[in-house]
Amino acid sequence: MHDLVIRNALLLDGLGSAPRHGDLAVSGDRISAIGNSLPGKQIVEAEGLALMPGIIDNHTHYDAQITWDPWLSPSPALGVTTAVIGNCGFTLAPCRPGDRERIMRNLTQVEGMSLEALKSGIRWDFESVPQYLDMLERQGAALNVAAFAGHSSVRTYVMGEAATERRATDDEIGAMKEIVLEALRAGAVGFSTSTSPAHNGAGGKPMPSRLADEKELRALVGALGEAGRGVFMLTKGGHTAVPFLESLAAESGRPVVVAALLHNSTNPDSVFRDLAALQEANDRRRKMVGAVSCCPLAMDFTLHSPYTFEGLDSWRPALPLQGDDYSRKLADPGFRAAVRAELVRPAHFRLFNGEWDKVQVIESRHKGFEQRTIARLAHEAGQDPLDFMLDLALDEGLDTVFSALLLNSDEAAVGRMLRHPSSLVSLSDAGAHLTFFNDAGFGLHLLGHWTRERDVLSLEEAAWRLTGQPAKLFGIRGRGALRPGAWADLLLFDPATVARGAKRRVYDLPACQPRLTAEAIGVRGVWVNGTRIVGSDARPKRLPGRLLREFDA
Ligand SMILES: [Zn+2]
Repeated sequence: MHDLVIRNALLLDGLGSAPRHGDLAVSGDRISAIGNSLPGKQIVEAEGLALMPGIIDNHTHYDAQITWDPWLSPSPALGVTTAVIGNCGFTLAPCRPGDRERIMRNLTQVEGMSLEALKSGIRWDFESVPQYLDMLERQGAALNVAAFAGHSSVRTYVMGEAATERRATDDEIGAMKEIVLEALRAGAVGFSTSTSPAHNGAGGKPMPSRLADEKELRALVGALGEAGRGVFMLTKGGHTAVPFLESLAAESGRPVVVAALLHNSTNPDSVFRDLAALQEANDRRRKMVGAVSCCPLAMDFTLHSPYTFEGLDSWRPALPLQGDDYSRKLADPGFRAAVRAELVRPAHFRLFNGEWDKVQVIESRHKGFEQRTIARLAHEAGQDPLDFMLDLALDEGLDTVFSALLLNSDEAAVGRMLRHPSSLVSLSDAGAHLTFFNDAGFGLHLLGHWTRERDVLSLEEAAWRLTGQPAKLFGIRGRGALRPGAWADLLLFDPATVARGAKRRVYDLPACQPRLTAEAIGVRGVWVNGTRIVGSDARPKRLPGRLLREFDA
């Protein structure tokens, strides 16, 4: 007799096999049988529903939130059962007490996390990566969690303030490498970094990892090779070439995840060139994937904190400014001319590319402006679009809310990326950019939009992309597959309705700070290690997630 039997479901095994009808049984925290007419103490009737392994969200930034919210809201409700934290190199650990303020200010700038929320929310019961992992294990979480060792924090730990200013010396590189090795031995899932110009920290200074030269990256990825485990994850700037990354993959023998491959309508072939280069590397027996998103990248923003523009070189003079100095800069014709000039130059990767017909006014005191595009409004006013947007914002004390559809809005192109043999569905950024966008429901969007509505992937392909594929890549043991003996991480959903709901603003962060959240549609149950966390009235007595420390080599 099994503890639980989910009966007559359409079973998607997460490995890409053809779906079949049947029962799945759970005993304790494991899948105990798959078959027909299985006996169970508790029965969940699932006729007409699909059952797959729980979603593995491989690109989250829950490092801070998890210290005050072990429920990792909103991911569990959206079908996620395992979260990989610490992407892009932006972790909390390691961190000396004297650097906490610096780390929080950097996270506020680079990942759009409210400084007030971080200050009142983060529990600093750690200094090293092993201590951080121990704290996560003591505290528990609703989801299984795997954590990267993050380059920017490692660099700050070793170099202090100089981490954002210069190259590292050989001694400093040696010290960083020791920390990465120590983190891997303690159970980090890999090493993450960023060379992206979109990643700026406090005062507009580049995030520390961006100051690393090739020698430093080679040494730190080499730590993965020496340890014989772990994934190398980076968010790539245009100057970081795929052949260099392939050399790191070849030397270390470790898998490399290259982010963020988002489709840019003004430079439409760029991501396909990257994917083709990764494919060629894989033909040479490297393990490299391009992290792609199945969601259009849209951001809500105000000019108080316009992440949309902050990666532009021409915006840099405005980054460190505040108050009147900042407003004067936004009004400066020379500044505006430089921004305009940059936007017409082709770029390898740029969030905003001058597509003013994709920028809308969302909240404004001016009558008739809301829900209309900057392109239209500027045209009617006989003004340049950048001038129009900045003048409007300045006139409203920078409180005007805009929404920009930035990247990944060409559905034919995104469909090709999602089917590409060298792509990994990723980039939810859950836990970050909390007031700009929320793609934590990316998995439901893949199942609803790209499978049911667009028929770009079959259900079994989508399930594999969300579970079996990342589990194998990250070496996550016993998860991402429906098979007897595997951990009972499960998502039960209605394939006829599954979708992510509309985003909405809530004020439930520490210090009542706002964030965007999204509701699930068509999710009937989520189990983590055999414990139901979604779809039953009773909240589980204990947090069922585990800190993952053992990974396949
Ligand atoms: Zn990220």
